[in-house]
Amino acid sequence: MNTILVVAEHRRGEVRPVTLELITAAQQLKTAADDRVLLAIIGQEAESLASQLQWAGVDEIIACKTNSAEFEPELAEQAVSALIVSRKPIAVLLPHSVDSLGYATAVAVKGGYGYATDVFKLAYDGGALVATRGGYNQKVNVEVDFPGHACAVMTIRGGAFKPVETVAAPLLTVDDRSELSARSRPLEFIEQGGGGDIDITTVEFIMSIGRGIGEEANVEDFRELADNIDATLCCSRPIADAGWLPKSRQVGQSGKVVSACKLYVAMGISGSIQHMAGMKHVSTIVAVNTDPGASIFTIAKYGIVADIFEIQEELQAQLA
Ligand SMILES: Cc1cc2nc3c(=O)[nH]c(=O)nc-3n(C[C@H](O)[C@H](O)[C@H](O)COP(=O)(O)OP(=O)(O)OC[C@H]3O[C@@H](n4cnc5c(N)ncnc54)[C@H](O)[C@@H]3O)c2cc1C
Repeated sequence: MNTILVVAEHRRGEVRPVTLELITAAQQLKTAADDRVLLAIIGQEAESLASQLQWAGVDEIIACKTNSAEFEPELAEQAVSALIVSRKPIAVLLPHSVDSLGYATAVAVKGGYGYATDVFKLAYDGGALVATRGGYNQKVNVEVDFPGHACAVMTIRGGAFKPVETVAAPLLTVDDRSELSARSRPLEFIEQGGGGDIDITTVEFIMSIGRGIGEEANVEDFRELADNIDATLCCSRPIADAGWLPKSRQVGQSGKVVSACKLYVAMGISGSIQHMAGMKHVSTIVAVNTDPGASIFTIAKYGIVADIFEIQEELQAQLA
């Protein structure tokens, strides 16, 4: 019997939807009927948050109670490490998110476990676990196996697995870890401006603007275009940092992973690693950029070397 450990992600009292994708990923690692999927939730409110985790495919929810209400990487690291020692999973699945990247490496290195990040496919090859991730700026798919490791810690790319949809009533176990301590303690949660505007992780069609739009006055033209084509207007970080669009519209490593997106139009976005972390999984990416060497073209299905203002005007004219 093998055990697969999934770690739920939550923020401000809400379990994040990516957790449901991890449950599906865990299902794919089961090879025998008695293999078990454990779903751990870590934090001060772990027990009450467990009510949001009643999903089919989970054999046991472990409410791992710590003394911090908000995510705290050191506590997460210690709690997950303790769970690996006590439950002996063959795989630990975490979302490929800013939170997980704050502690997953430490868990893997300190425990001597296998490790792979940004995994979008899981399979077995002759009994050996194989994780597939992008490599060389997403130009190739890299298959990673973990010889000699009894456990592999993996961060799973958002949008790569279909979220589980069927509810169930898994067994709940409370694991009191309130004795764990960290060297830092969050004092205050500062809400970024414009939070709660729209959940861009749930929309399917996004048009995103980057520094190529030049100045704030130009945002309106792209908002209008997005409205006309029924796209959700999102942005790269400099646009959110400048306050031209709300932070909740920022795509990327410190913004959001647009998990449900199927069509992503990048206007005047260079394609930094941090931006691509939020959208490179999208099946159809269209990029418009004046620079033919822009990195965004390495992941775009359709690349247009052109001025975004000309494209915007032409599209508006076609729609009129
Ligand atoms: C810890 C950390 C976290 C970060 N998190 C994020 C994140 O979540 N999301 C994010 O986006 N960034 C993030 N960043 C910032 C990131 O490194 C880049 O600085 C940012 O993504 C660049 O945004 P951009 O592509 O809009 O701008 P630029 O890199 O300046 O690119 C602008 C592009 O527009 C093109 N262009 C200019 N004019 C036109 C025109 N008229 N028509 C067509 N094309 C034109 C240019 O050729 C250029 O390629 C993060 C950075 C750090 C260090």
